Amino acid sequence: MSISVDLSSKTALVMGVANARSLGWAIAEQLLAAGCRVGFSYQGERLKGELDKLLAGKEGVWAQQADATSEDDLTALFARVKAEFGTLDMLVHSIGFAPRSAMDGRFVDTTPEDWNTALSVSAYTLVSTARHAEPLLNAGGSIVSLTYHASQQVVPKYNVMGVAKAALEAATRYLASEMGAAGVRVNTISAGPMRTIAARSIPGFGAMYEKAAAAAPLGRNATPEEVGKLALFLLSDLGSGMTGQTVYVDAGASIMTMKVD
Ligand code: NAP
Repeated sequence: MSISVDLSSKTALVMGVANARSLGWAIAEQLLAAGCRVGFSYQGERLKGELDKLLAGKEGVWAQQADATSEDDLTALFARVKAEFGTLDMLVHSIGFAPRSAMDGRFVDTTPEDWNTALSVSAYTLVSTARHAEPLLNAGGSIVSLTYHASQQVVPKYNVMGVAKAALEAATRYLASEMGAAGVRVNTISAGPMRTIAARSIPGFGAMYEKAAAAAPLGRNATPEEVGKLALFLLSDLGSGMTGQTVYVDAGASIMTMKVD
């Protein structure tokens, strides 16, 4: 059976593509394949070259620098969205960061600075980008972000990032409750471990990646392509009845407490 999704009359903004391994890019690939017009934002000029390479030869795409923690950058970014598209159907928030110092040590030693940085970048920016997007979002619009199971259970070294992801998931529910009246849905995808730049900054990620695969019912980790396909479902009309949800794509790893061979 094949289901084809036609997004040729739709527009999307994808925030947080660092390179070809980024989950934001895996989602963008699905949107582009469905004919969607897609704008991108990237944090710093350092990443512009990588994004330029990915976008080379693609029609209907554009990119603009925006630090998601900067109100001025968000104002300029959504002015660009309005100028390019007029209105917006989909917003992808694929942004997360916690200082390495907050993940190397004990959770109890988290400094206020590291706490504020992690929660501001990884959770509050979903709220601020939703606020900026709201006037442009069409009825039937959809917002998707990325979270991780460390919000629900302790994952060693994830520390303050687990708290930030819990805040992101709660923010998803509050945003969904407010934006539903305008026909806009807000969901978050809880992805299993994937080898991206952000993941490499987590101490011991390699071992965690192997353990998650071994414990998962499917005997492997989920793939970025599978994250992209779930995002396509949630962003398009296929997911029209779903809002406020944290939806897992992790080969089932999160249902297991342990696996005995
Ligand atoms: P990634 O490729 O490194 O993407 C993270 C993006 O966030 C980067 O483009 C990064 O830009 C951007 N970013 C950080 N701070 C920002 C800011 N202030 N303003 C704008 N952009 C900012 O890694 P990823 O794994 O795809 O991460 C995407 C999302 O998936 C994150 O929310 C992450 O927590 C989540 N996630 C990842 C995994 C995994 O195992 N990889 C699992 C579950 C959930 P810079 O490179 O310039 O910092």
